[in-house]
Amino acid sequence: MKSKKKTHVVILGAGISGLTVSYFLNKLKVKNTIIEKDKVAGGLLKSFQIKNFVFDNFIHISHAKNSIAKNFFKKSSSYYQLNPKPNNLYKKIWIDHSPQFHLYPLSFQEKFKIIFSYLKRNKKKDFRIKNYENWLKGAYGNYFAKNFPMKYTEKYWATKSKNLSTSWIKFRMQEISFWELIKGSFFKIFKDTYYSSDMKYPKKGGYESFLKILKKNKNIKYNSKLNYIDHLKKKIYFNKKIINYTNLVSTIPLPEFSILTKNKSKKLIDHAKKLRCTAGIIISIGLNTEIKSRTWFYIYNKDFKASRVYAPKKLSQNNCPNGKSSLQAEIFLDNKKKIDQKYLNSIKKNTIDNLIKYNIFKRENIEFIDIKYKKYANVIFDKNYEGSRNYILSYFKKLNVDFVGRFGSWAYLWSDQCFMSGKATAQKIYRENLD
Ligand SMILES: Cc1cc2nc3c(=O)[nH]c(=O)nc-3n(C[C@H](O)[C@H](O)[C@H](O)COP(=O)(O)OP(=O)(O)OC[C@H]3O[C@@H](n4cnc5c(N)ncnc54)[C@H](O)[C@@H]3O)c2cc1C
Repeated sequence: MKSKKKTHVVILGAGISGLTVSYFLNKLKVKNTIIEKDKVAGGLLKSFQIKNFVFDNFIHISHAKNSIAKNFFKKSSSYYQLNPKPNNLYKKIWIDHSPQFHLYPLSFQEKFKIIFSYLKRNKKKDFRIKNYENWLKGAYGNYFAKNFPMKYTEKYWATKSKNLSTSWIKFRMQEISFWELIKGSFFKIFKDTYYSSDMKYPKKGGYESFLKILKKNKNIKYNSKLNYIDHLKKKIYFNKKIINYTNLVSTIPLPEFSILTKNKSKKLIDHAKKLRCTAGIIISIGLNTEIKSRTWFYIYNKDFKASRVYAPKKLSQNNCPNGKSSLQAEIFLDNKKKIDQKYLNSIKKNTIDNLIKYNIFKRENIEFIDIKYKKYANVIFDKNYEGSRNYILSYFKKLNVDFVGRFGSWAYLWSDQCFMSGKATAQKIYRENLD
């Protein structure tokens, strides 16, 4: 293996993406350094523990299909194979997922409205591809679209469906035929429509256990505050120090990376400001008793601010002490929204009051409540997404920067996809630097 001795790759961020790039560069004997702002590695995949209860930052399950990623995760941790059946809270009714296939519990009037508007829907392709709202109306009819996915979109994507593009949908939404709609409306039959059937979760230690091998990395400079990057001189200024690089890989949020550039153009900044993302508030609740709950449920009700709630014990029994249980609620908002303690308290109250109102647990069952704010959750696929992202990526392509990961490349990537793109980037850099 002949890589140029002077090659030094600097990787920004020690989440799964940055750790993977470094891991494969180490295997190829290419010098590299990771610069990480936190005091620990793992990024969004870090799990956390409160009083022997284990939680993740948002529900995480591996949907890895690629055998390389699957085997790597397997080497890191033993796991449970899962077959979860999530459900949905709609008004006061519980409906199996996906709701369009399981409308049986709804009133006759509501079923009639859904079926009638389904038959009248506009199926034309040019109407449907215009935006996500049209796509939904074309797939399900106005009534179902307005009461189910359009409501959920406002909660999960923190914007109206008409502001979203359709490029990201792919396998994520299931279309339905007339007969399937009728069958699910009048017969109590379960149809498994979840887009991933191969789901895995570590037996112990939360989702982070899949990072066990990657976290053995010794090249990480923790607690690093980046000041700016001089792309022409190939120097990074951080913590009053300078580090030289030959190759730069970024896994940190693309808008933040753009702002760190020395002598940046106004156009670059304008595009960086146009990129939008949701932030997430996660409310983790320890309970002194067992509860009845599916692995997770989606919430359509507007007055219940959480979009989704998951039960860690359903992923692994080791996530909770014996005889106890826990839940974590996810609330999403635009990450440009300013939040303060008062806002966080109101979200916490809303979540707990509603979980009690819908009989998930009783107030006296609560052992603790923990609240966290995560500034980056899901990239928002609005009308500026493609143009601004492409402009920024091509701007830095000329400066030979590689972007990896969910926030680095500003895309809807799962952890296994981050792993695979990290591996591919390490190999690409190696090939480019061969003697
Ligand atoms: C709600 C939700 C649910 C998800 N569910 C799943 C799931 O079920 N299955 C799945 O596989 N994936 C899931 N994902 C996706 C998964 O979390 C991501 O794909 C993955 O964690 C992204 O890893 P990353 O390394 O690209 O980014 P990150 O984990 O964000 O890592 C980036 C690192 O960069 C560091 N950093 C940031 N800024 C700076 C800076 N200025 N200087 C230095 N360091 C910096 C951060 O501290 C962090 O360590 C989910 C994500 C969300 C939001």
